[in-house]
Amino acid sequence: MPEISIRIDLNDDADRWRYRCPAGHTQWTAVNHHFWCAACAKGWQDVDPVFEELHDLKTGETIHRDRIAFVEKRPSPIWA
Ligand SMILES: [Zn+2]
Repeated sequence: MPEISIRIDLNDDADRWRYRCPAGHTQWTAVNHHFWCAACAKGWQDVDPVFEELHDLKTGETIHRDRIAFVEKRPSPIWA
């Protein structure tokens, strides 16, 4: 079991702005074992919309999906 190092609230705008996809977007979605970025998927950049690590804008670190726990203060139908 990997150690959880950060907890992200998907409904918290501050968290959304802090953690970015590898191309620097905020429009990513957490799926079971990876992430998917809507901005990358639009295809105007040569990047893979599926990735396993988020970039922490504040510390400059890259954090693997296994080390991230998601908390939600409000239930969100998008990620249910
Ligand atoms: Zn992206």
